[in-house]
Amino acid sequence: MTMSRPYVGRFAPSPTGQLHIGSMVAAVASFLDARAQGGRWLVRIEDLDPPREVPGAAEDILRTLEGFGLAWDGEVIRQSARLDRYADQLNQWRSMDAAFGCVCSRRELSEQGGLDVYPGTCRYGIPPDMTPRSFRFRMPKGGPLQWVDRIHGEQSWEREQVGDVILRRADGHWAYHLAVVVDDADQGVTDIVRGADLLGATAAHVALQEVMAAPTPRYAHVPVVVNDTGQKLSKQTLAQPVRVSQAAEVLADVLAHLRQAPVARDSPSQMLAQATAQWACPSLASFHADGP
Ligand SMILES: [Zn+2]
Repeated sequence: MTMSRPYVGRFAPSPTGQLHIGSMVAAVASFLDARAQGGRWLVRIEDLDPPREVPGAAEDILRTLEGFGLAWDGEVIRQSARLDRYADQLNQWRSMDAAFGCVCSRRELSEQGGLDVYPGTCRYGIPPDMTPRSFRFRMPKGGPLQWVDRIHGEQSWEREQVGDVILRRADGHWAYHLAVVVDDADQGVTDIVRGADLLGATAAHVALQEVMAAPTPRYAHVPVVVNDTGQKLSKQTLAQPVRVSQAAEVLADVLAHLRQAPVARDSPSQMLAQATAQWACPSLASFHADGP
């Protein structure tokens, strides 16, 4: 018998710039889903990639969330404060032979046909005179990785499609996959609502949760906001930051993207209260219905 755990959701931005409409969609969707189910909503700053981070961005993100009425529960966790925990997890996986050292350079990997799925070069050992540059997860053999996404439905990913994902990068920084799975497990996160660009990452996370014996959260991957040329909005595609002074307009746009009924223009917290009361997790069909 499985006890159902009390709902814990989260929003986990990287401090690589200011929040834009695409990141607000993930923030608002995860907030509304948590509040509509009487759950807790956590904020975690994913600051594990110093070369890409912008000084002051984390504080700016938190101020923006506050300005939009997106009040979180408990303390904000910063991944940069949890490096020892990640090292412990890697050591544990290495001792279980669930992780291995890799000596491949980026150049070697790209010559072997792209950086997306690791070709398995080092999974059976590295030359004794070489030191690992990075560490990877040893994807266990087995049937497809399966879960039910609340928006995308039944998912089934072959393990070979995911491969031996990176856990600690050659530059010494912790990889997203390890940190996210460890943090979600440690924080008791039961529900993850995030952008559909992470659907493939979730397949890797399901494999990591299996090896950690951590429960797989429920997932809802919200279709991402794209620009006129079909690219996902991001700092790289020069998405404009959202302004607290335009919160009502931004929230109306975000709710429209999330296929929610419109709410009356009001203060951000009033608008969110109304949106919470009428929240319905969007269906995939509703995103396909408005094509050109
Ligand atoms: Zn390798």
